[in-house]
Amino acid sequence: MTAPAHVRVLIAGGGTGGITVASWLRKLSSRLEIAIVEPSPFHDYQSGWVLVAGGFIPPEDTRRAERDVLPPEVELIQSKVMGFDPHHNAVELIGGHRLTYDVLVVALGIELNWSAVQGLAESLGRHQVTSIYGRRTASYTHHCFEAFRGGTAVFTQPATAIKCGGAPQKIMHLAHQRFEQRSGVGVNTRTLFCTAQASLFPVRAYSDKMVEIAARHHSEVRYHHDLVAVDGPAGLATFRVREPGHSERLETIPFELLHVVPPMSAPPVVAASPLAIQPAEGEPAAASGGWVEVDPHTARHVRFDNVFAIGDVGSFPTAKTAAAVRMQAPVVAANVLAVLEGRHLDPGYDGYSACPLITSDHAVMMVEFDYSKQPVSSFLVNPVKERWFAWLLERFGFPWIYWNRMLKAQPHEAGYLKPFEGLARRLGLMRWQA
Ligand SMILES: Cc1cc2nc3c(=O)[nH]c(=O)nc-3n(C[C@H](O)[C@H](O)[C@H](O)COP(=O)(O)OP(=O)(O)OC[C@H]3O[C@@H](n4cnc5c(N)ncnc54)[C@H](O)[C@@H]3O)c2cc1C
Repeated sequence: MTAPAHVRVLIAGGGTGGITVASWLRKLSSRLEIAIVEPSPFHDYQSGWVLVAGGFIPPEDTRRAERDVLPPEVELIQSKVMGFDPHHNAVELIGGHRLTYDVLVVALGIELNWSAVQGLAESLGRHQVTSIYGRRTASYTHHCFEAFRGGTAVFTQPATAIKCGGAPQKIMHLAHQRFEQRSGVGVNTRTLFCTAQASLFPVRAYSDKMVEIAARHHSEVRYHHDLVAVDGPAGLATFRVREPGHSERLETIPFELLHVVPPMSAPPVVAASPLAIQPAEGEPAAASGGWVEVDPHTARHVRFDNVFAIGDVGSFPTAKTAAAVRMQAPVVAANVLAVLEGRHLDPGYDGYSACPLITSDHAVMMVEFDYSKQPVSSFLVNPVKERWFAWLLERFGFPWIYWNRMLKAQPHEAGYLKPFEGLARRLGLMRWQA
């Protein structure tokens, strides 16, 4: 690896956020020196792993070479950030190489902690224990659905923050539909959604609707159930149950299929750095979550003026999604340039995020919201409703938009509908009701 000693704008992490913000920076400034540190030679469209598991697209459609998706004249440093030293405007790479910057954008994503669940790493990808939170196991999930002959299918969601809060449920709904379509399997199947959370979604209107959809599919929902151990060969999943008003207990559930969403956290290299949220007095460091501590509207670090975050690694109090990245990227890019040119920052990010919830192979609820924790609608319709057009978007529209518009810094399509928003409101089209 040959890496420079200094770059004007350094982006740590070349995933969805890193690539998108690099494209916006290139669009806004054709001559700016930009470098990205990214260890992987590939970039994955992670939202597509749900479609792989459902058998709608092959896994190859979700992957491209990293170099092919970077904007022109952005240097790719194929390495890994091993440490942040923001007091000296520097990062440390593999092999001790030190790289300094004028402005840093942190885009390292979120860490998946498979080994935090006892026995999971050993069972994953075998014994009908699977997950859409990985490219290889997304394909295995499809295999598990096809091989399933009835019994108990368990789907989990951990206690931690996760990326795409709707994904644990969408895969359950796709499984349900697949089992219903195959003769005998649906009637012989019990579907359980075991979540460590107290509700199905943090936005009340969507959560209520999700409860209704799960009931329609005869899926049993168990709250406060946190997966702590898996025994793949024996087909047993053990949960720590912490129901309010009851003492903590362990519950073991036998399964014929187990879909796991692992606990997640801030990447350790971030959590251990001065960029992480400072724990409150007397609190252990882990309690603060370890995310890069940024202003929720400008994405600038609250203590280091020349540091920004984008995507899952940031402390933005909203859902961690690619949809959020899309809205953050133009704001972050404009603010990076504002810092370089000594201008005021744009506080333009309003917390927009979206977790489109697939409920069958012809229906999706868009699940859009912002910092107000109320539903919003880019499409000028009631967002708390399953729709066929949203399924077409999820299946065909979003993958194309991701590769051809989002990663290339093209404005959000919903912008074209903005002029009609007032009219839609007056006509009551956007009023949401379950
Ligand atoms: C199954 C699934 C379904 C999803 N569905 C949706 C959906 O429907 N809608 C939606 O909007 N979002 C969805 N998401 C979430 C979306 O993919 C993420 O929120 C998005 O990718 C976040 O972008 P990011 O740049 O923060 O992280 P990532 O895209 O994960 O990128 C992080 C990058 O940092 C790199 N990196 C890590 N450590 C280092 C290091 N030390 N040094 C340098 N580089 C490093 C990684 O290699 C990676 O390339 C889904 C995700 C999954 C897994």
